[in-house]
Amino acid sequence: MSEPTLAAVATRWYDENARDLPWREPGVSAWAVLVSEVMLQQTPVVRVLPAWHAWLSRWPGPAELAADPPAEAIRMWGRLGYPRRALRLRDCAVALVERHAGTVPADLHALLALPGVGDYTARAVLAFAYGQRHPVVDTNVRRLVARAVAGAADAGPTTRPADLVATEELLPAQPAAAARASAAFMELGALVCTARTPRCVDCPLAARCAWLASGEPAPTGPSRRPQRYAGTDRQVRGLLLAVLRESTDPVSRDRLDLVWSDDVQRARALATLVEDGLVTSHGDTLYTLPGALAHTPPNAPPL
Ligand code: SF4
Repeated sequence: MSEPTLAAVATRWYDENARDLPWREPGVSAWAVLVSEVMLQQTPVVRVLPAWHAWLSRWPGPAELAADPPAEAIRMWGRLGYPRRALRLRDCAVALVERHAGTVPADLHALLALPGVGDYTARAVLAFAYGQRHPVVDTNVRRLVARAVAGAADAGPTTRPADLVATEELLPAQPAAAARASAAFMELGALVCTARTPRCVDCPLAARCAWLASGEPAPTGPSRRPQRYAGTDRQVRGLLLAVLRESTDPVSRDRLDLVWSDDVQRARALATLVEDGLVTSHGDTLYTLPGALAHTPPNAPPL
């Protein structure tokens, strides 16, 4: 009798160990899956959970989000980080309304043509919302495949076509089984085959893992330092945006000057927020979130 495939072993493990996450529940809309994938790209599950629920209860579909100004998307995004994702998600909602009558297409090319939807997100939506067979390759899957199949300690630099081929080769032919295997690989990479300390003793792939079989060779690439946040422009941008999110009125430059004492860094952070379309400047003295004036009370100062 032939050995079960890596996908079969991973899927069996997933059936018993997968986290109970709301975007995995049967009947969840493709829009809800898309929102979860965008939120999860740079933010841990525990922080995404409340934000995902709040977002979908306010905007259950693309049409509802597209009807609100970008300012509202940025407000709802709150402190999830990397707030350009909020803008892109709203741009995506607008495009879904204009091109697909407010539905999420079940087609790779149509998805890839949407604002903010890249290789990973498009394939994740097709696999997890529509049960299609596509290699879904995030950082965790790249690392898992590099170790279990190629015997390397780390995945090395991204080589998109090669990553897609290496993962697709592991998927079963049947679409629903392939979609489940994709979810299983992601979960194993996130929970067991972690970047710094893989838990090989708990791993269902251990008996077949090329990295273990070759004596756990050390990584060959440069080690990655954790990203610093304190004192960076990212922190200053976050502080400036927090003031604007919390205000329903236009905010004066003087008020924004209070959030960070370094004039040069503060000005640079504000300029990049304007450049990114996350903040609108009104004559260099007043600032709002983009499109916020539609929600400005009638007694707001004239601009
Ligand atoms: S045995 Fe260890 S290194 Fe290999 S796939 Fe599992 S967790 Fe990763």
